[in-house]
Amino acid sequence: MTHPPSASLLDTFANLLGSKGFSVDPGVMAPWLTDWRGKYHGRAAAILSPATTGEVASIVRLCAEAKVALVPQGGNSGMVGGATPDTSGEQLLLSLRRMNRIRHIEAAGQLAVAEAGVILENFHNAVLEHGLRFPLTLGGKGSATIGGLVSTNAGGTQVLRHGSMRTLTLGIEAVLPDGSIFDGLAPLKKDNRGYDLRHLFCGAEGTLGIVTAASLRLVPAAPARRTAWIGIDSPDSALLLLRRVDAAIGRELEGFELIPHSCLDAVLRHIPQTRAPITARHPWYVLLELAGESDQTLGEALEQQLASALDAGLVRDVVIAKSDRESEDFWRLRDSISEAERAEGPALQHDISVPVDLMPAFITENPVRLSLAFAGARALSFGHLGDGNVHHHVQPPVDADGVAWLAEHGEAVSRLVYSHALELGGSISAEHGIGQMKRDILAELDSPARLSALRGIKDGLDPDRLFNPGKLVV
Ligand SMILES: Cc1cc2nc3c(=O)[nH]c(=O)nc-3n(C[C@H](O)[C@H](O)[C@H](O)COP(=O)(O)OP(=O)(O)OC[C@H]3O[C@@H](n4cnc5c(N)ncnc54)[C@H](O)[C@@H]3O)c2cc1C
Repeated sequence: MTHPPSASLLDTFANLLGSKGFSVDPGVMAPWLTDWRGKYHGRAAAILSPATTGEVASIVRLCAEAKVALVPQGGNSGMVGGATPDTSGEQLLLSLRRMNRIRHIEAAGQLAVAEAGVILENFHNAVLEHGLRFPLTLGGKGSATIGGLVSTNAGGTQVLRHGSMRTLTLGIEAVLPDGSIFDGLAPLKKDNRGYDLRHLFCGAEGTLGIVTAASLRLVPAAPARRTAWIGIDSPDSALLLLRRVDAAIGRELEGFELIPHSCLDAVLRHIPQTRAPITARHPWYVLLELAGESDQTLGEALEQQLASALDAGLVRDVVIAKSDRESEDFWRLRDSISEAERAEGPALQHDISVPVDLMPAFITENPVRLSLAFAGARALSFGHLGDGNVHHHVQPPVDADGVAWLAEHGEAVSRLVYSHALELGGSISAEHGIGQMKRDILAELDSPARLSALRGIKDGLDPDRLFNPGKLVV
């Protein structure tokens, strides 16, 4: 049972954090009370923005004593409503954005310690100055923070080669629900002290405490990269291409994104200054990127692979970026899909994964199942084919009132999509997490054993349900 914060507790926070770190002003709070997609709207008693780990610990201790609920938030770019408080107005929004210091960058050891509020794009730029690269990127990089990325175990477009946040997080510092500070930042290669708290916090979505900093693995800045935009017939052909390229030059293969023509079309319609890399229309495109030491070697390897794929009739058309600028333009098309799709109007977004080899089957079969059950429903899949992860979106029939159609059929549509993914041995959440959006469907469709373990961990660490209540598990 949680309580609203008393007036005296709010005064204590105001004194502790000062005017930069505390506000009850509705205008200040408003942008942070709705999620990026505009699907979830909440209210909060106040927004707290601590600047140090010590301040976070004090806030947590006071909230634990008074049994007040906290909703941690980073850049608010999450896709599952995880950072949006409920509508009671009794919860406190805990923004980590002021904790935005990169504590150190260790060039020789190829690691950096960054606080929770460091924005991903700023982190990329900072480590680049040391000749290093943080090999995780995504469309929300201008707002997503290290704390949010850790807490959602974010993926993105380079997971194929470098792994998701869980792989790249070498250590964490976190404030636990009783207000104690867990200092696990040391990047130990071996550490067998029982359960791995670092891994537990990766993907915990703020339900087990507050991540205040992380030690992150870096790689040398790749001096060369080659990017190709490829027109292709089908997801099956894309998978065959992936297998060929992976077998021949897998060490350099860093990105392999699948994009249907309808997504490209939406980007061209809604995002200014974008243009199609290939003039002819193809049903699907692959955005492929290699990164490595030598521009010439990469270029030759890529040309050879794509020429033989063209000869074999596996691909229809190819453009290789001639400059970094052109390569950025290709990526901009990919990274703008979510924004363009948001502009297209209401839709149901599903971030699912299945074993890579089964992905073409999912992409082609699911729309058929959907149209049999829901006449006129339009499905499109795009994303990280190499990771067995696509974003599978369902739009209402063209002539339907979109909002009303989604209200009537949305839950059943999502159940059909998720059941199909599970039938193929997949997951209802590949990289976005569960949040409030998938909490009930996880409980309904996923294994009772998983649910019971998740609940047991939650009960053990946060028995009063003060941390991000209503998200992930109840
Ligand atoms: C255009 C666009 C493209 C995207 N593409 C991708 C993609 O390719 N792959 C991908 O994985 N994601 C993608 N995302 C989703 C999003 O960027 C990630 O989920 C990101 O990790 C969220 O970071 P954030 O700082 O915005 O977290 P928020 O949205 O603020 O929070 C996300 C969750 O983490 C919790 N949280 C935040 N900070 C902390 C903390 N310090 N301690 C404890 N809990 C915390 C919140 O309570 C919430 O549950 C995309 C988003 C956008 C807008």
